[in-house]
Amino acid sequence: MKYYSLNNNSHKVNFQKAVVEGLAPDRGLYFPETITPLPDSFFANIEKLTHEEIAYEAIKQFVGDEIPETELKRIITETLCFDFPCVQVEDNVFSLELFHGPTMAFKDVGARFMSRCLGYFNRNDDKHVTVLVATSGDTGGAVASGFLSIKGVEVIILYPSGKVSDIQERQLTTLGRNIKALQVDGVFDDCQDMVKKAFLDESLKHKNLTSANSINIARWLPQMFYIFFAYQQLKKHNKPIILSCPSGNFGNICAGIMAKKMGLPIAHFVASTNTNDTVPRFLEEGIYDPKPSVATISNAMDVGNPSNFIRIQELYHNNLSEFEKDFSSYSFTDAETEITIKDIYNKTKYIAEPHGAVGYLGLKKEMAKQPNSVGVFLETAHPIKFLDTVEPLLNLKLPIPTQIESVLGKEKVSTRIKNYEEFKSFLMQ
Ligand SMILES: *Cc1c(COP(=O)(O)O)cnc(C)c1O
Repeated sequence: MKYYSLNNNSHKVNFQKAVVEGLAPDRGLYFPETITPLPDSFFANIEKLTHEEIAYEAIKQFVGDEIPETELKRIITETLCFDFPCVQVEDNVFSLELFHGPTMAFKDVGARFMSRCLGYFNRNDDKHVTVLVATSGDTGGAVASGFLSIKGVEVIILYPSGKVSDIQERQLTTLGRNIKALQVDGVFDDCQDMVKKAFLDESLKHKNLTSANSINIARWLPQMFYIFFAYQQLKKHNKPIILSCPSGNFGNICAGIMAKKMGLPIAHFVASTNTNDTVPRFLEEGIYDPKPSVATISNAMDVGNPSNFIRIQELYHNNLSEFEKDFSSYSFTDAETEITIKDIYNKTKYIAEPHGAVGYLGLKKEMAKQPNSVGVFLETAHPIKFLDTVEPLLNLKLPIPTQIESVLGKEKVSTRIKNYEEFKSFLMQ
């Protein structure tokens, strides 16, 4: 499979190069040259398949012959080491829980898959890579855990000092080995700026820098897996399926739309956002006008200019009217999100966290327009990761899951940096 840069269709690379580079040299996102739908028989028999079998069928055309079948199957098995239940919340409303992995957020899937692809490409120890990640919280933990002890890969995580929760900080500073954490005096955007600057810095070329956020195809594409798993569980209802993704960088929802292009019968997608509403405004006003991000209680979605939206437009060949048939996007305030967390709990005893609650709100809004459907929202993180919001709202104490308990007692190790010069000298060490 070849991938082209969305800035220049004639710049093409193979899967390995797209994964190792992250972004094209012209800073464009990589996009697969072809998308071939899976046969009808696959969807007719999907109930009989295991998660590993489904994932292998979904991903194999995108990897091609660059990873042998047995190796790719091993990577998939190691990636999918936890459950993806679709839990009923109300009549015709389900929560697809993506938080049963090692760091309790959906990013575990993409991080585990990408790290193992890099590990395979480094099997002869010939080309070491350095993964740089700027995190506002969740990505860092998933990448730290997913990449731990992967051969030939060094991981450097930048996070804003004092701006991530204690649990999140422990998830990214306590593992050691090939994982290094840098605590930046500043906000998330300062971390992101340093990473971007490093990618453009010619004197760092020899470090083979790559990124592990959803711009990387090996983090983005495996996010299709659990959209297939949702269909597998909801098919029996025999109704059109509406799927709502709480969206920040729009990687997850873009993977869902990819799955639809491969034939997966999802009738409609909803991108639910917090007050960072660039995409809902675009659908309403027809003008794409990104704004600086604002802080909300669903902070993993505080993104002003979603990087994967350009891939969604490519999937629709920039045809807005076709796109709008399949896709809606709505934004919700923190106040609405908080009321919803309480309402869901009071009515059903289901504990949603802020991102899932935004997803639920968008789903309900679309289902009001399409009442004869079955709906699923993605619950992208475990409520324990947002306990400062959830516990006081519901007036309860959440039990600590074992995954979280295992990092609580460990010592945090990180290096404090103030500016790009300090970051660069750390990289050069
Ligand atoms: C990253 C994240 C999101 C947003 O996902 P995108 O793919 O960037 O749209 C939503 N919820 C949680 C908990 C996240 O960590």
